[in-house]
Amino acid sequence: MFNVAIDGPAGAGKSTIAKAAAKELGFIYVDTGALYRAIAYNAVTKGVIDDTQKIIDMLTDTNVELKYVDGVQAVYLNGDDVSAYIRTPEISMGASKVSAIPQVREFLLNLQRDIAQKNNVIMDGRDIATVVLPNADVKIFLFASPECRAQRRYKELMEKGEDVTLEDVLADVNQRDYQDSHREIAPLKPSEDSVMADTSKLNLEESIQLIINIIKERIK
Ligand code: C5P
Repeated sequence: MFNVAIDGPAGAGKSTIAKAAAKELGFIYVDTGALYRAIAYNAVTKGVIDDTQKIIDMLTDTNVELKYVDGVQAVYLNGDDVSAYIRTPEISMGASKVSAIPQVREFLLNLQRDIAQKNNVIMDGRDIATVVLPNADVKIFLFASPECRAQRRYKELMEKGEDVTLEDVLADVNQRDYQDSHREIAPLKPSEDSVMADTSKLNLEESIQLIINIIKERIK
């Protein structure tokens, strides 16, 4: 199987870019952030998001699955498709929080490896190259400046009708960057063998092309 790992900070365009590249290459696009979001959604719904021990206890009766229909990923929590509920700022922050808990990361590890073992994948996340798929065929670290990323995410949220300001989104981006890169376990950082891809000055089409080119170079 051919495995591509794409890591990078929140809002770098990973999901949009990886999705488009996967479509072009006929690979499955695996959005691992959705797994952490599903755990956060469960914790928020159960009212335990501020209690690490209760989140850990909650895992005992938590079942998370990824399903693909026509290449589109859906995330299931205890049998229910929760994909539509996990993209709010509250769940984003919750996901960043639960993802710092070692037991949560361990809980989701085999699920991610299993998909990569059985399929050609482009998997996006924070620790795919470093922890989940250390033997990936291609490793890419995709990033852009915090301001660029906040602007993009703001536009996305506005289009979905969320009531937010650019300042709030930038503050969230900075806070999540800080949390994701300073946590003790699997912090966000490029692996030594990652190709660095800066999309600050590229539009979406150019970013997609850049990633496809990097991957095709290795498939040869
Ligand atoms: O990529 P996305 O923004 O959906 O991820 C939500 C949160 O989940 C991130 O802020 C990060 O804390 C966490 N995450 C992670 N490891 C991954 C994917 C996401 O820690 N592989």
